[in-house]
Amino acid sequence: MEGLDPDLEHMVEELRQAMGLASREEMLRVLIRQAYYRHQLVCPACGHAFEPPEGERAQCLSCFSLLRIVQGYWVVLERRGLPLEGG
Ligand SMILES: [Zn+2]
Repeated sequence: MEGLDPDLEHMVEELRQAMGLASREEMLRVLIRQAYYRHQLVCPACGHAFEPPEGERAQCLSCFSLLRIVQGYWVVLERRGLPLEGG
């Protein structure tokens, strides 16, 4: 996937950092899944889609990562057994 314009690349990079993902490809995959599963929570860590709970926090039913909603996006607070930096 090449050829996104610089603004879009910038947005992808900001979202990638906010979600704590390792690579741009991972980020694009999450965005595509979020677009496809519009009304579901898509776990940024593993891509599992499920019904979002009430409130600002959730735990992925598949990989058990802890998630939090930030500006409308679910971000990884803590991956299964692997705490992220910052956040
Ligand atoms: Zn997950």
